[in-house]
Amino acid sequence: MTNRHRVSVRCVRRLFPANHPLLPVATRLCQHRKPGADPCITCWELTIRNDERVVVEFELPREVETDRFYVDEIAVERACRGERVNLTRAERRAAIELLHTRRLSPSQIARVLHTNDDSVRATLSAIVRPTSQLRAVA
Ligand SMILES: [Zn+2]
Repeated sequence: MTNRHRVSVRCVRRLFPANHPLLPVATRLCQHRKPGADPCITCWELTIRNDERVVVEFELPREVETDRFYVDEIAVERACRGERVNLTRAERRAAIELLHTRRLSPSQIARVLHTNDDSVRATLSAIVRPTSQLRAVA
């Protein structure tokens, strides 16, 4: 590996962090990378050019406004199967709620979602509290 190659790998990681929305696409496209390695700069470039073509062809907005309450149910289901998935706050809450309805304990939920017990308990108390408050009023 040359110094020039090391610099370019570092630049790629800075430009395209692990939460980049096109990372899964670039990873699938990059067939010549080592298992577990980041996609190469050539495959990143191709991925971004392909994405840009779709934006132009379908006249899509360049910057997509994200709905912070939108829940990608497939991402939630994958996370609930134990896959490491980057979830939004709303998706994380939905995943915890789903696993809770499947009668998993907070510790089990934390293990499945690769997080810690305290954050699961905090989310569950926020989800469960409104119901118990309703019971107290009724
Ligand atoms: Zn590649």
